[in-house]
Amino acid sequence: MTSPRERLNSILQTLPEGVRLVAVSKYHPIEMIQDAYDGGQRIFGESHVQELVQKYEALPKDIEWHFIGHLQTNKVKYIAPFIDLIHAVDSEHLLKEIDKQAKKCGRVIPVLMQVHVAKEETKFGFLPDELLAYMQSGAWRQYENVSINGLMCMATNTDDEAQIAREFEQARELFEAIQNVLTETSGTDKAIAQWETRSWGMSDDYPIAIRHGSNMVRIGSLIFGERVYG
Ligand SMILES: *Cc1c(COP(=O)(O)O)cnc(C)c1O
Repeated sequence: MTSPRERLNSILQTLPEGVRLVAVSKYHPIEMIQDAYDGGQRIFGESHVQELVQKYEALPKDIEWHFIGHLQTNKVKYIAPFIDLIHAVDSEHLLKEIDKQAKKCGRVIPVLMQVHVAKEETKFGFLPDELLAYMQSGAWRQYENVSINGLMCMATNTDDEAQIAREFEQARELFEAIQNVLTETSGTDKAIAQWETRSWGMSDDYPIAIRHGSNMVRIGSLIFGERVYG
């Protein structure tokens, strides 16, 4: 049996420079996270608020915590004081709440906008055209305590690699289209400089994701093993 830290290191060796690894530790115990931490990993991703808060309290304070799942607006307040990146903003309503809670904490919280590219109805997120129009509208500029740093998406859970590649490619095209919009509409302001993160790729599809524009992969089971739910 290899340890999380060993599996993590062998994945890190395969990542091109500039691709960051989020170790997705949801449902896995503190000891496994500590092992990965001791091996040098600092970015961890969780998708349940209560579990994240408990782990945040128990583990070293220089961990960079990412919230990667669907976030309910009424739970933003519990993570606002410490969260380093919220990956999956899927509505303006959520963006507004993150801004409000960030303001209360005297922080600016970095976020990614979730785009729906998968052929599955259950996955959250903005449709590509809808998100492009929203970014074009500039309505997000009123939220001064969030920093919109890029896009996040999930591909369809399928063995069809060509389909997965097309979905990631769609996200990459949208990323670039929004970058153009920001360049045209915001002159030299910080919104362009912050627009840099492309969060796609999980255990089963991260090599495809990297070939199609990802610079942040979210890997769980390959590092920590299968999750035990409940
Ligand atoms: C659980 C999860 C992951 C990691 O999935 P693995 O298949 O275990 O690598 C990545 N992203 C999101 C949004 C998740 O919920």
